[in-house]
Amino acid sequence: MSGAGALTHAEALQQIADRNGGNRATPGPGYDASVDYVVGVLRDAGFDVSTPTFVLRQRGGGRETVVRNVIAQTRTGSAEHVVMAGAHLDSVPEGPGINDNASGVATLLEVATRMGSSPPIPNVVRFGFWGAEERNLNGSKSYVESLSDSEREAIALYLNLDMVASPNAGYFVQGGADGPESRSGPPGSATVGRVLVDELAANGIAADLMRFEGDSDYAPFVDADIPSGGVLAGDSNKKTTEQADRWGGRVGDVFDACYHSACDRIETLDRTALDKFSDAIAGTIARFADAAEVPAR
Ligand code: ZN
Repeated sequence: MSGAGALTHAEALQQIADRNGGNRATPGPGYDASVDYVVGVLRDAGFDVSTPTFVLRQRGGGRETVVRNVIAQTRTGSAEHVVMAGAHLDSVPEGPGINDNASGVATLLEVATRMGSSPPIPNVVRFGFWGAEERNLNGSKSYVESLSDSEREAIALYLNLDMVASPNAGYFVQGGADGPESRSGPPGSATVGRVLVDELAANGIAADLMRFEGDSDYAPFVDADIPSGGVLAGDSNKKTTEQADRWGGRVGDVFDACYHSACDRIETLDRTALDKFSDAIAGTIARFADAAEVPAR
């Protein structure tokens, strides 16, 4: 794995934003083009791809828009044990959303295409690309709500990527930290968090384990009692001296000065962070795709 492949996908999403008014927000043409791009990459790689829809009600008015998520999975592995990884595909209206969250999308596309659609694995690997995260997590919520009880129980774990190349990058892992279940994840999340920390350590990174904070697409999975983990490179918090000693970068500066703004562009991405997270995510998915490593619920 390398971040170079992921970077190619992030560049494509930047171009999509540039051609569509500077953003990829849901609803909008930049988001629709992002969906088409992701579907194309995954279909070309041989994955079983679907675009389940949900209805988004516009703020203020009563206008409704039909929005697509993208779901893709391997043609191999047992559907009784699904290893799922997801990232939101929309940006805020204020900018192209390349760290937030083309970086997560690009990383998953790179993992998927490297792994291929028919690897010799005991468990299915499924990828989710969510619409309207920046509105109210509508895409991931509607997906989890659409599952039957048995489909929900078949998801062994969910792994969330939301910003993995912040310009002044940190290395955070969510899942299994101390605290209430809504902030540490349901049983099994500690296993997910531990494997993520291990895989980053294998790439020379001493990550910080933290609670689920703020909002991202892990929330509906946590609420549905699915063991969950997440990674992020930081947003509007400031890097401490101790963190800079471990990770490099600028003490006292925020992790992403372009968070939710027009300058969240391809040029700002921390390519080292993209590399490290790509490797760690690939390693984590590979380990959980092996039946022995699925966390007990
Ligand atoms: Zn995000």
